[in-house]
Amino acid sequence: MSASEWHADDIVNTVSAESSDLAEKIECDAPFGRHTTYRVGGYATCAVEVSSVAELLMIGNAATSRGAPLAVLGRGSNTLVSDLGWHGVVITLGPFSDWIKADTAGLKTGEDLIIEVGGAVAMPVLSRRMASIGVTGLEWMVGVPGSIGGAVRMNAGGHGAELSDAIVDADIVDLRRGEQERWRLDRLELDFRSSALSNHHVVLSARFRGSMSDPDLVSTRVEDIVRWRREHQPGGQNCGSVFVNPVPGEVSAGALIDGLGLRGFRIGSAEVSTKHANFIQADSDGQADDVCAVMKSVRRQVFDATGYDLRSEVRLFGFDDVAAGGHVGDTV
Ligand SMILES: Cc1cc2nc3c(=O)[nH]c(=O)nc-3n(C[C@H](O)[C@H](O)[C@H](O)COP(=O)(O)OP(=O)(O)OC[C@H]3O[C@@H](n4cnc5c(N)ncnc54)[C@H](O)[C@@H]3O)c2cc1C
Repeated sequence: MSASEWHADDIVNTVSAESSDLAEKIECDAPFGRHTTYRVGGYATCAVEVSSVAELLMIGNAATSRGAPLAVLGRGSNTLVSDLGWHGVVITLGPFSDWIKADTAGLKTGEDLIIEVGGAVAMPVLSRRMASIGVTGLEWMVGVPGSIGGAVRMNAGGHGAELSDAIVDADIVDLRRGEQERWRLDRLELDFRSSALSNHHVVLSARFRGSMSDPDLVSTRVEDIVRWRREHQPGGQNCGSVFVNPVPGEVSAGALIDGLGLRGFRIGSAEVSTKHANFIQADSDGQADDVCAVMKSVRRQVFDATGYDLRSEVRLFGFDDVAAGGHVGDTV
């Protein structure tokens, strides 16, 4: 069966043979774009919030056996969904994956500890929780509005740090093989805003290294980062930086776009932010296709002027990914 030949009923019927509870939770023609920070874009054929690893494996098995593409949605802060929607199965992790464990009992300043975190935890929540108990190392996460799962997949980073600096390993479910394994740092192959993970891999949890410090010092650093973000980055509907820096640490996508005077460049309901050249803003009630059109045009203009072929950082669902420099978001 090819990826386009399946229907929502196929998924629901396959799952109901194993679990009527899970089958009842599957939403057909489910809002997808609305659950991203862009808040534009269409619907997914199916969506379901799973409440256990067993449910994750069941929905993964149903989608795989029917040839349906699937993807995990974290906090939707690096995802753009086409206005026509996406013919696939969207999985979100329920509260079973929203937990933090950090045992600081008896630890002195400067001593290290391991922090265990569920894949659904929001990075700013983790950062603030660690600050409140005086654990340093994850302050930068306060400025990145994604989940731990999305952060591992993307090797998120900021303020001179990235996830790969602190992560020890991650518990990964492979939905194709139907198994759970602990992946160490080298297997994750974390690189600038990329990893070895594909859409059929789910980050259940991750373990990070932190160390003990003074809670007031850590909290001050967290608040400094929040202030810096407010001053330098726009609010509204966006996904943060749209393009990956072509030469990390040396050539930034924002500087290339800025160099062409493209701040404020607009197509329909989307424009290059006037505050940060690597952000593309959508209007409220805007169109995802306009965001994609701005991406394509910016990419072409930068290539023509500088020779740098920008690659999208945002994951695109339901688009012609190649023209926008996109990561393929819709393959299993
Ligand atoms: C205002 C703003 C500022 C930002 N600043 C930064 C920044 O400074 N640095 C930075 O790196 N990013 C930044 N981002 C982008 C974004 O927050 C990060 O890429 C983040 O890691 C995405 O996490 P998410 O949960 O929102 O992912 P989603 O958008 O939900 O998904 C992104 C990708 O991760 C996958 N994914 C999500 N959850 C899981 C999981 N549990 N297991 C496996 N795969 C999963 C999805 O399938 C998708 O491929 C910013 C975004 C915004 C809106």
